Amino acid sequence: MTEPKFKKIKSKAKMTEILADNFKELDEASRTGSKPIAWCTSVGPAELLLSMGFLVYYPENHGALLGSTRECLEYMPKAHAIGYSPDCCSYLASDVGAYLAGKTPLRKAYNMEGVPKPSVLVFNTNQCRDVEDWYRFYEREWGVPVIGIHTPRGIGDVDEQLIDYVAGQMENLVEPLEKISGNKFSAEKFSEVVGLSRRTTDLWWDVLSCATKVPSPITFFDGTVHMAPAVVLRGNAIANTYYEILLEELNGLVEHAVAAVDGERLRLYWDGMPIWGKLRDLSTFFLSQRTNVVASTYCNSWVFKAFDAADPFRSMARAYTELLICRSEEYKEKYMADVCKEFKCDGIIFHDARTCPNNSNNRYGMTERLFKERGIPTVVVNGDLNDLRCYSEEQSRLSLEAFIEQIGQGK
Ligand code: SF4
Repeated sequence: MTEPKFKKIKSKAKMTEILADNFKELDEASRTGSKPIAWCTSVGPAELLLSMGFLVYYPENHGALLGSTRECLEYMPKAHAIGYSPDCCSYLASDVGAYLAGKTPLRKAYNMEGVPKPSVLVFNTNQCRDVEDWYRFYEREWGVPVIGIHTPRGIGDVDEQLIDYVAGQMENLVEPLEKISGNKFSAEKFSEVVGLSRRTTDLWWDVLSCATKVPSPITFFDGTVHMAPAVVLRGNAIANTYYEILLEELNGLVEHAVAAVDGERLRLYWDGMPIWGKLRDLSTFFLSQRTNVVASTYCNSWVFKAFDAADPFRSMARAYTELLICRSEEYKEKYMADVCKEFKCDGIIFHDARTCPNNSNNRYGMTERLFKERGIPTVVVNGDLNDLRCYSEEQSRLSLEAFIEQIGQGK
């Protein structure tokens, strides 16, 4: 039997181009002060910022770049040395460490001077507390204001009272943002950006949904690459143009039953953060096992079905509060079981990321419940998003091989 090969997605070249343009614009604004720049958490209120004339930069994207290039391994100790525990978010440690070292992979990737200088740092604690602590470092360092939204955790039903609470906090951001940007808030512009984000989210879900087909034309590892516009360019028309191009290509692959993993035999769900410095190794491993990781909590986290241009504040509040990461165990369990069914998954891999308990859903009995009550087999891989000292290649490979053998019996 011949060795299976990676399938190239041709649209990626277009994505590289639009991301380069985005970072070029940020770099230009940072150098010249031509436009205000807001740093925003990955599931923060980006639409409001864009509508008020800010260019938006996402430090977690920088964290992922530091992880995938493995440059973080050199920089994280610098953050640990100034008191950030090796147990706190390794994106935070990577980013702060890179700042302390005066380095960034953005220079090589996009020829940027450095990370773009912010006028304001805007967080939402819907994902974790670390994001606020992260921004407080730069507040102390640069004297830049930090503003944000505190979202409760462990949410069951997202009810109207909760939406009032979160939407109210979002509305309260308008006044400080007007002062910082010098731009007046426009309800019309805000509604337009929320409408664009809704389109981005719908297209991104259509892309991910191609993996419901058997065989699937994409993998989770493709998703971690192609999600970039949904993360850093949502609310911009160019993200939608890109996903239309990508979708056309993927629909063509589906039509011709082209498999991302040759001879696709098993289909899995990945819960938790990617292990950025090991994406290539892991995707090669799964390819060799003729197993496709077709669905993930991570890639699905940028699907915000609640966005509604007719009701921008409340729908944005709902979209950023319905996220899996801030929901109850019961909600998460049902969600994963439903996605497994929709994507025809044979089991779930839980990545227990040492420095991100927020995205590690295996820690409170979920694996047992999924198996006993719903018959879904699971395996846990211990690792981390960026800190590869927490990851054992050998141990993970053995666990995954045993899991694949077990669920593959009879297939
Ligand atoms: S959710 Fe996890 S990975 Fe993301 S910023 Fe928070 S601790 Fe870090």
